[in-house]
Amino acid sequence: KILDITVGDLLREVAAAEPDRHALIACAPGRTPRIWTYRALLDDAERAAQWLLTKFRPGEHITVWAPNVPDWILLQYGAALAGLVLVTANPALRAGELEYVLRQSKSVGIAYSDSFRGTDMAAIADEVRGHVPEVREAIRFDTWYSDLPNCFGADQELPIVAPTAAAQLQYTSGTTGFPKGALLHHRGLITSAAYVHERAQFPRHGVWVTALPLFHTAACAMSVLGTAVSRGTIVVCQLFDPTLVLTALQEYRADLYAGVPAMMIALLAHPDFESFDLSSLSVAISGGDAVPPELVREVEQRFGARFSTVYGQTELSPIITQTSPDDTIDDKCGTVGRPLPNVEISVVAPGTTDPVAIGEQGEICARGYQAMLGYFDMPEQTAQTIDATGWLHTGDLGVLDERGYLRVTGRIKDMIIRGGENIYPREIEAVLTDHPAVAGAIVVGVPDAQWGEIVAAIIEPSDAANPPTAKELHDIVRSRLAPAKTPRDWYLSGQMPVNAMGKLQKFVLREQITAERLDRLPEK
Ligand code: ATP
Repeated sequence: KILDITVGDLLREVAAAEPDRHALIACAPGRTPRIWTYRALLDDAERAAQWLLTKFRPGEHITVWAPNVPDWILLQYGAALAGLVLVTANPALRAGELEYVLRQSKSVGIAYSDSFRGTDMAAIADEVRGHVPEVREAIRFDTWYSDLPNCFGADQELPIVAPTAAAQLQYTSGTTGFPKGALLHHRGLITSAAYVHERAQFPRHGVWVTALPLFHTAACAMSVLGTAVSRGTIVVCQLFDPTLVLTALQEYRADLYAGVPAMMIALLAHPDFESFDLSSLSVAISGGDAVPPELVREVEQRFGARFSTVYGQTELSPIITQTSPDDTIDDKCGTVGRPLPNVEISVVAPGTTDPVAIGEQGEICARGYQAMLGYFDMPEQTAQTIDATGWLHTGDLGVLDERGYLRVTGRIKDMIIRGGENIYPREIEAVLTDHPAVAGAIVVGVPDAQWGEIVAAIIEPSDAANPPTAKELHDIVRSRLAPAKTPRDWYLSGQMPVNAMGKLQKFVLREQITAERLDRLPEK
């Protein structure tokens, strides 16, 4: 069923039913964890709402620009109770990017932590506010908590908020270009999160550990709100630090861990991985990017947990399909599962609304309760994304099978058009990574005067001192794929450009190639 409630109602409901249960545990390296029961969380959130209403009016937008500090979650619930729209900004944004978010979102306030990973966020926030005078209030997380008790007696009446009202303005993670602000409502965020927990067989009162950045819906909705629906405990790690995460998993006897593939790989690579007791874990969730099949197998084996892959995007609050822990290993490795309840999926010929035949590749579209209200203040982009019949075009390519399982085969934006021929990088990447001398391969299209685009490959060698030659790899691809798919230019990977979610930004690689900033592989 659709959970027709607001984020504030959800907290009120759980706090009334289970006041003394641990709601939130906040872990940070070298610090004693901070713990909130549901009663304490509601008290603080109501106080935060009172505090916010002394400064803002319901419906206004406020930006939160901070790492995974507990105040982020207090503000999330407080803003929801106050009827404010929370604009969730990536703490890694630079001054210019933050200014764009504040302006584009029409924010009237900004909440921030004083520092993050050596960056003086307070100084940047002050500087940027100087350029955006509409931002009339600053909320310094490092002091506001001590200020909250002063709100006792403020007696602001909390507004009535509709479940379909905007709760968050969430910028997409910027994997393919400049982030867009998706306006998401309470009902969509809560229901999608609840279904993910149900599909993952997350137990009532379970413990979920996350180090995903809170600014992304995968953390602040899927992890935080979903755990509240299950009346469980969310353990939030301040940052992704493998030791911190593994310690939290062990310490709190976690039922579930969720992380993007890069985070799973980093945990498995921890030198003392085997010394942590992860026996409480029953499920590990990953997604947000293609999940390598060997990772699924390794996680099941070494975590001793069953794997569940999620697929979705910010615009869809965010999850729409998921594998079940009960699925076969082939379905877990090769697909992103079936749609969540009440989500419709259609695969259409790109640029149309015509479904392709089962088993054929097309653009993945979704329809249902969880679609964004639209991109904020971007009517054209919204109209290009949500068509007249309510289908949201994801920009992803996929194939549905006759059982309703979906495979994600690429992104339209990553598709290379060489002399009019469509080329899908994943197919070429798969051939290259099969080669023992190749640890990783990224294929992109780069502009070319003759062909429009040509295929280029960026190779991470298994042995940096002894990389494969361009000729060797060329011959391998040529023997297995059509000539047009064989990369013309071969580069050695340097520092891979990833966004705050750990996702590779191919558009940055394309820029690096065009600017001739990447080294080439030896020819022969
Ligand atoms: P931007 O839209 O700004 O480029 P983004 O698309 O990375 O950023 P997100 O909403 O964080 O923003 O990511 C959603 C995208 O991630 C999906 O559209 C899809 O391309 C990819 N994705 C998510 N889950 C999976 C998965 N399980 N397998 C493959 N790709 C996935």
